[in-house]
Amino acid sequence: MSAPIAAGDLVVVIDSKDRRYLVQMAEGGEFHTHAGITLHDAMIGLPEGSTVHSNTGARYTILRPTLAEFVLSMPRGAQVIYPKDLGPILVQADIFPGARVLEAGVGSGALSMTLLRAGAVVTGYEVRADFTKVARRNVERFLGPDQPYAVHEHDVYEGIDEVDLDRIVLDLPEPWRVLKHAEQALHRGGVLCSYLPTIGQVMALHEGLERSAFGHGHTIEVLERSWHVRGQSVRPDHRMVAHTGFLTTARLLSPGEEPNP
Ligand code: SAH
Repeated sequence: MSAPIAAGDLVVVIDSKDRRYLVQMAEGGEFHTHAGITLHDAMIGLPEGSTVHSNTGARYTILRPTLAEFVLSMPRGAQVIYPKDLGPILVQADIFPGARVLEAGVGSGALSMTLLRAGAVVTGYEVRADFTKVARRNVERFLGPDQPYAVHEHDVYEGIDEVDLDRIVLDLPEPWRVLKHAEQALHRGGVLCSYLPTIGQVMALHEGLERSAFGHGHTIEVLERSWHVRGQSVRPDHRMVAHTGFLTTARLLSPGEEPNP
């Protein structure tokens, strides 16, 4: 059974329209919306899944946030990868507990916390100092301190210091500039996974892969369609996110080997 909500806990407060607010509980704290004020003290001590009311009678459900809820409501420096793609990245990049993963760029840390949650040991490269701080703070807020997570202010196009990595996961505009370094940093058979928003970038990456020691380049996109389910009214929702990015993976082969096919 989960412990009751305590001061310091992160809570997602869900209103009657399914809007979600991320709130850190503090003794004497207040949660404000246009629908009035709810005291943190009224939430502290309750089990997850409880209902609380604002001073104007608005109803809220309180729960600890899932990873997806946290990612969508956490402070962001850079654009985050959405939950729709975070899950598939774990499988496409074949992330496993203890995997030594290099991630670049780190941005707001949404992908970092997903990799850490899956048990990976993550080294992050990020060119912007301000984003390294945002990412570290977000990871610590959601997963707590003492994570196997080191973020360096470093341009991955300049090189990779780590060796014998299991996986490299990239979310930056020109991943083909990383391939030469990735060939040195990954062990053979290691997986490179790159998230890219446009197909021109995907084409350039495949051209780079063809000239590299990587083989078996493969690109997918993930379409997620949520459904409206209310009594007899059961149908897809009217709107969906039509596009986020493409996921491309490749395997590092032995030097000089031709990929097959
Ligand atoms: N995947 C992240 C978002 C990354 S946004 C998340 O889920 O939160 C892309 C990031 O790549 C930006 O923060 C940008 O500063 C960084 N970046 C761009 N080029 C880079 C490079 N050459 N080396 C390291 N980081 C880079």
